[in-house]
Amino acid sequence: MPIVNPFPGGTILGYPRIGRRRELKRALEARWAGRTTDADLEATCRALRLATVRHLAGLGLDPADGSIPSSFSPYDHVLDAAVTLGVVPAADYHVAARGDGTRPPLELTKWFDTNYHYLVPQIGPHTPLAFADDAPVRWFAEAAHPDDGGLPVVTRPVVVGPVTFLLLAKAAADAPAAFHPLDRLDDAVAAYAGLLAALGATGAPWVQLDEPALVADTVTGHLPAGALADAVARAYGALTAVPGRPAILVTAPYGDLRGTTGDHLAPLAATDVEAIALDLVRGTAPAGPVPGLAGKTLVAGLVDGHNVWRTDLARRLTQATALGAATGAGAVAVATSTSLLHVPHDADDETWDATHGRDPRLRDWVAFADQKVTEVTTLARGLAHGPDAVADQVAAATAALADRARAAGVVVPAVRARVAALRPADQTRAPYPERAAAQARRLRLPLLPTTTIGSFPQTREIRAARAAWTRGDIDDAAYQSAMREEIARVVTLQEDLGLDVLVHGEPERNDMVQYFAEQLDGFAVTAHGWVQSYGSRCVRPPLLWGDVTRPAPLTVAWTSYAQSLTSKPVKGMLTGPVTILAWSFVRDDQPLTDTAAQVALALRDEVTDLQAAGTAVVQVDEPALRELLPLRREHQHAYLDWAVRAFRLATAGADTATQIHTHLCYSEFGDVIDAIDRLDADVTSVEAARSRMEIVPQLDRAGYGRGIGPGVYDIHSPRVPSAGELTELLTLAATSIDPALVWVNPDCGLKTRGYAETTQSLRHLVAAARAVRSTL
Ligand code: GLN
Ligand code: ZN
Repeated sequence: MPIVNPFPGGTILGYPRIGRRRELKRALEARWAGRTTDADLEATCRALRLATVRHLAGLGLDPADGSIPSSFSPYDHVLDAAVTLGVVPAADYHVAARGDGTRPPLELTKWFDTNYHYLVPQIGPHTPLAFADDAPVRWFAEAAHPDDGGLPVVTRPVVVGPVTFLLLAKAAADAPAAFHPLDRLDDAVAAYAGLLAALGATGAPWVQLDEPALVADTVTGHLPAGALADAVARAYGALTAVPGRPAILVTAPYGDLRGTTGDHLAPLAATDVEAIALDLVRGTAPAGPVPGLAGKTLVAGLVDGHNVWRTDLARRLTQATALGAATGAGAVAVATSTSLLHVPHDADDETWDATHGRDPRLRDWVAFADQKVTEVTTLARGLAHGPDAVADQVAAATAALADRARAAGVVVPAVRARVAALRPADQTRAPYPERAAAQARRLRLPLLPTTTIGSFPQTREIRAARAAWTRGDIDDAAYQSAMREEIARVVTLQEDLGLDVLVHGEPERNDMVQYFAEQLDGFAVTAHGWVQSYGSRCVRPPLLWGDVTRPAPLTVAWTSYAQSLTSKPVKGMLTGPVTILAWSFVRDDQPLTDTAAQVALALRDEVTDLQAAGTAVVQVDEPALRELLPLRREHQHAYLDWAVRAFRLATAGADTATQIHTHLCYSEFGDVIDAIDRLDADVTSVEAARSRMEIVPQLDRAGYGRGIGPGVYDIHSPRVPSAGELTELLTLAATSIDPALVWVNPDCGLKTRGYAETTQSLRHLVAAARAVRSTL
């Protein structure tokens, strides 16, 4: 029986789940702390679900036809799918998320090229995989037939699709080497079939299955050619044959279904699914007719779900209007390019005024989730009734964009001129051997020098002082002196421990990107712009809206103060240009490479100022270097080129005798190992303890011949490693490469740790360095 429900004219692919006032975060934390019961948590979740779908109806999405997604999750949508499919028992939900005394939590990994992180299910040949939990069905029913007298809403349940679910899973530890979770496709499809039948039986007109893995070589790159097309054909061939099912929308957010490694639109269009959503912000629309699309709705992702800028409605309406004829689609609908999970709820939650550091002009230039819903409904109306029906809204968007393009601060001619005048020499330092010799003469460090990654524990006192200062309870002078006292304590502690290269400890930093965004022109920070990073954790990415300048030095006073207290070198500490971009909402009106160069130049001036103030070592952190790696292989090379160039621009103003360090938070370098070498840092510190120093010989083989600080202990856990254990790891490192290149440091910054374990661990670290030195 063909499915006849027409797809709604306008929709969003998902909405933030954390709550406008982070209600979900509070409810989860209260439950984990034992202050509330499971029933209390479920009551909050239910209230959030109903409030959200009704709010979306209030914003103009049709409550009767499946326009409104049911995209809630109590923690993570991949974990939810694992529970629905019986891979994780429903009773173990919070254990899978957070672990308990005996079981570790599931691994947490970045969701495509976003700052959202999902839990990685583990699947082996015998892992249970069958329709086991009907939460999507219950959530549909609770909204469609509410028992609270409120507005009934016919939602569109959203579930991770079968192919993506299996591709994001990892093989269980006891699975045979040749096993891949995708080997379980038929079992997974049978489980989804059960879910679809149940959804159909409760009256759901549509279901949305998200298949972002189909756009990402980073996820599928290792599969044999054709495996993915085959999986799509098998999965959706079987699911469309389920009797009584809802109509199926398959989405492919975050990129392009067609790339050099394969065309995944063709096999999808060849199946009988009723609608396909394309990301037309990151990806492109097919230029010609696509076989199979004639009987389907093409859901055009024209409103950016991944960034906060107002949509060019005129341009997008023209594009939407042309799509049907160009692609041969049976119908065209308008949507966001991705779920709105990645943007804050509502621009009207902010106070947009200069005293809050948020230029009032920005209010008209941005669109957060709620504004994007209105953009979608406007485009949908324009598509259905012609441009005249939405002429006022389109004109307002055009005017706002024109205003933005002309506004002072968006284009700063001096910045443009400086970027345009850059020459290759600006990113090139003296040859490494020359630098190494000059730095050795200046720093006089022992073999296997010891250091830390920058931050020391952020104590309750530090947080209290910052909160009091933000509220205006203490003045600038009082805050400064509190931070200075903390710096003095941290310097004394490091001297007592016998570390060789000290840090000031970063007490003044709320966050390693926001701290810089607050001080650089061209950025705004929000007060309520929370975005879920994982589970109950949220971040507030700054808005990078204009040309970037540095009105005054950013870190020099703190670093110089620390240096004034000791004769040991104090390492300056900056966040790198790529990481600043990766953790901000970046302007979309110029190429990222230009924006990166501007940020890099601001940092370059900071490096030079630090150097002029006597700083001999400067670390430029790039923990997010790999995070912006494009999902499609063909774009990765160009990205790494500009990322490397930005880092080198930021650091190449350093003199030969100034030592540049960088820190990367991970050890699986894979495709980027060559780029790390090209950063040309004098010393690179990386995570290495969990992989037992594997990275050291890898870097060596890749030709990296400069200083390397493989983290000898994992700071993500409060466990204090013994000196013996550290000695063993360090010996491993110092015997696999030239020991003259090895530095001794923890895996990452210490800000989330307490002082008790930090002091002891660092004492063992220094002891281990001394022990290994004596054997060399
Ligand atoms: N310097 C930062 C710190 O020590 C680095 C943090 C990071 O790598 N994420 O906290
Ligand atoms: Zn780190």
